[in-house]
Amino acid sequence: MPSEPLVAEHILEFPGGYARTTGPVIGRFLTELRGGRIVGVRTAEGKVLVPPLEYDPASGEAVTEEFVEVGPAGTVTAWAWVDEPRGGHPLDRPFAWATIKLDGADTALVHAVDAGNAKALRIGSRVWPVWRSERTGHITDISYFAPEVTKIVSPVRAEYRLQVGGSLLTFLEGVERGVFLGGRCPSCEKVYVPYRVFCPACGGPIADQLELPDTGTITTYAINNLPDPRAPEVPFVSAYILLDGADIPMIALVGGVPAHEVRQGMRVRAEWVPEGERTKSMANVRWFAPTGEPDVEL
Ligand SMILES: [Zn+2]
Repeated sequence: MPSEPLVAEHILEFPGGYARTTGPVIGRFLTELRGGRIVGVRTAEGKVLVPPLEYDPASGEAVTEEFVEVGPAGTVTAWAWVDEPRGGHPLDRPFAWATIKLDGADTALVHAVDAGNAKALRIGSRVWPVWRSERTGHITDISYFAPEVTKIVSPVRAEYRLQVGGSLLTFLEGVERGVFLGGRCPSCEKVYVPYRVFCPACGGPIADQLELPDTGTITTYAINNLPDPRAPEVPFVSAYILLDGADIPMIALVGGVPAHEVRQGMRVRAEWVPEGERTKSMANVRWFAPTGEPDVEL
C-alpha cells in the first residue's frame, strides 16, 4: 500500500510588509518613477540598462553614475498571455506579461500590457505606459502598458442631394407611369435599361426610347442579412434582373418568396405600388416576385 504523501501547508507573510533598502541605483529608478519618468543607468561600455542594475550583468563591472531618461514608449520583444488573472496581478482582465524595450534602452523591462486580446499583440508592438495618478516610487506606479493608438473610429454621416441627369429623369418619369424605359443603340443594337443618352459600349448617341416589359430573369442575387431602409425585412434579396428584351441587367429587390428559394434563372415580374402612391423613384417597384414560369437557362 503506498502511503499518503506527507504534506504541510505554509504561508510566508511579513505583516506590514518586508522593508528593504534600495541602494542608490534602484532608489534613483524608483524616485524617477514617482516623478513620472523612466530612467536607465549607463554601463562602462555605454549600454543603457532598464531597469538599472548596480553591476553590468555582461561584464560584472560596476555601472557608471550616469542615468538616462528612456521611453516612455517601447517595443514588445516577447510576451505571454494571461487568460485568468490572479489576485496579485496588476489587471483584473486578461492581459500579457511582456518584455518591453523602452526607446533608448539596451535591455528590456518586464511589465503588464493591456492589449484587450492576444491577437492584438505581437513582437514589435509599440506600447506606452499608463501611469497611476498617485505615485509612490514603486514599479506599479506604471499601472500597465497599453498598445499605441493605431486606429480611431469617427462618426460618419453625410447628407446630400442628387440631381438626376436628363436620361435618369426620363427613366424615372417612365417608372412613375409604371413602365421601364430603355434605349437601343442604333449602331451596336444593345438595349440599355435604365435609359441612357450614350451607348457605353460604342459611345454613340441613343436617341430613341423603348418601353420594356416588367418581366425578366434573375441573373445573380445576394441574400442580405443586414437591415437596409429600402428593404422590407431581413434577410432580403437583392438581384440583378435582366428585363426581357434588355442586354444589361438592373438591380432590384426580390420579394414574395423565401430568400433561400431565390435562384439564378428564376422568372420574375415587377410588383408596382398602387397608382395613387407613385413618385419619380424606384420605390414604385415594391420588388420583383416570381412569376411561376419555368426557370431560364442562363
Ligand atoms: Zn452602341
